Amino acid sequence: MSMAGPRRSWEAERGQRTYRCRRCRHAADDFYLPDGWLQVRVRDPQATPGENTYRIVGLYCTAACLAAEAGGWAAAVEQAEAAGR
Ligand SMILES: [Zn+2]
Repeated sequence: MSMAGPRRSWEAERGQRTYRCRRCRHAADDFYLPDGWLQVRVRDPQATPGENTYRIVGLYCTAACLAAEAGGWAAAVEQAEAAGR
């Protein structure tokens, strides 16, 4: 349970949900993304106007978790480029 509580009236109606770090599996219950967490999104090229334009790739509780994950993504891209040559 967040100590902060709902900060706007619609948050109380929305209720809490569990956010989980994609990297370390740390979980937090809050009305929205907890303070300090980072959300990574990519644009969805298939999206039509009015749709969700972005796809959430992951949530990370710290920059260190994001950096560790991003290092893996970079390595995968390098591997794919090396294989394409
Ligand atoms: Zn984490």
